[in-house]
Amino acid sequence: MKRFYVLLALCSPLTAFLQCLSNSMIMYKRSKMKIKIAAFVLAVIVVNNVWCSGWRKKSIPMVSTVMVFAPHPDDDVLGCGGAIIKHVAYGAQVTVVYMTSGETNPGDKKPQRIARLREEEARRAAAKLGVHDLVFLREPDSKLRVTSKTIGKVKQLLNDYQPDLVYIPHKKDEHSDHKATYDIVVEGVKKLRGLNPVVLGYEVWSPMLAITHVAEISDEIQVKLDALSEHKTQIADMDFVAAVHALNRYRGILIGRVSYGECFQLVAIE
Ligand SMILES: [Zn+2]
Repeated sequence: MKRFYVLLALCSPLTAFLQCLSNSMIMYKRSKMKIKIAAFVLAVIVVNNVWCSGWRKKSIPMVSTVMVFAPHPDDDVLGCGGAIIKHVAYGAQVTVVYMTSGETNPGDKKPQRIARLREEEARRAAAKLGVHDLVFLREPDSKLRVTSKTIGKVKQLLNDYQPDLVYIPHKKDEHSDHKATYDIVVEGVKKLRGLNPVVLGYEVWSPMLAITHVAEISDEIQVKLDALSEHKTQIADMDFVAAVHALNRYRGILIGRVSYGECFQLVAIE
């Protein structure tokens, strides 16, 4: 609860003032009137927090070279498909690197066939976003590891492409391959000499809490959903299209104060 108040205090001077007022109220002997006033002040703090939140986020930087690291085919579209469309429209060179080809499909005994299928889906989906430069590293699905070999491969790609901006899953993503992708790319970036790309974490399955950047994707949402529809093997069992549509609507309204949005978290490279 204390952390909650600390976060609120950072929102704006008004929030800090109201927080102090609220704390003072709560410290007083409880009476019906005082509790009502404290509840009102707390409600104002929450509304102020939500209302101000969109003002504190930066827009994603428009740069000339972008590299997206996706643990599996479809994570690029889910996490930053709208941002990718914006980068392409801006004229950026966008490359998507798939760490695995997502060949582990429960119940399917032919991983090679699934990998081929998913890579085809990735090509069709990326083409809808306007991206044609794809790299498939074909590391084992569900067993992606942070090793000197995988870090070396990523470092080589970063050196070859010299991206200004890199997208990866955000730090608290709970999927093991997503976690590994985060660690591999961060380690790869640390080893670069004379190259300091901005690294942004994107949101797929685990909700992101510390948001630093937002992309308004109201004009891009339909193309993004069309691209996601190309991942037929993935949407057969679960309606990911509806899920990401709802997530982007939620983020757009609450964080960006727009119709649809994607949220990102700046990754500190130390
Ligand atoms: Zn994934």
